[in-house]
Amino acid sequence: MDLRERLRDIQARIKVAAIAAGRPPDEIQLVAVAKTFPAEMVQQLVDEGHHLIGENYVQEFLSKAEQVYGATWHFIGHLQSNKVKKVVGQVAMIHSVDRLSLAEEISARCMALQKVMPILIEVNLGSEISKSGVTPEEVVTLAQACSRLPGVQVRGLMALPPPAEDPESSRPHFRHLRQLAEVLKEQGLVTTPVAELSMGMSQDFEVAISEGATLIRVGTSLFGPRG
Ligand SMILES: *Cc1c(COP(=O)(O)O)cnc(C)c1O
Repeated sequence: MDLRERLRDIQARIKVAAIAAGRPPDEIQLVAVAKTFPAEMVQQLVDEGHHLIGENYVQEFLSKAEQVYGATWHFIGHLQSNKVKKVVGQVAMIHSVDRLSLAEEISARCMALQKVMPILIEVNLGSEISKSGVTPEEVVTLAQACSRLPGVQVRGLMALPPPAEDPESSRPHFRHLRQLAEVLKEQGLVTTPVAELSMGMSQDFEVAISEGATLIRVGTSLFGPRG
């Protein structure tokens, strides 16, 4: 399959998974994760009508943002505070807010641009020491602190469960994330009518959709294997 066929294939699978879960397919947005893939491929995807692109690394993102015309960018990777000023002007959402100091920097930089950044709080559900994300216990505290910052808006949660062969093994993690998002919603800590749930990748996005994902982040199934 070429890129266009893979896009149509993923879109069809999203639809099937949504309908099976009793959800409107347009509730689910596909974030095409382009890390390591060249700007030409991203442009091709945009030209096929798919505009929402996710990037993990600041340098790579900046280089592609210069070359690609017509994309909407989401930043989904670990973000150092000193790189925030380089990305805030060019991204529509940051999925990977995992500490207050980062949210404060995003807020300050956005205020200077007279803009408000939609953010997601990244949650570490697998509890692997090396991975980023706050613990489930810390989610409410961080969301409360973010709600006092004028330049950011908490829209929901993001997680990257521990890698597993079987997509079904992600299900309890996805369910856990949804429950945490419901708590935020109940406490009025999410500014939109629905809390966004950024969860599910190539391996397990259908399971994520059945557990309520609103943003799925798909790389290899769309662009091909990473070198
Ligand atoms: C790479 C990456 C993805 C996409 O993973 P695939 O398995 O290629 O679909 C999604 N989310 C994050 C945070 C990533 O780094």
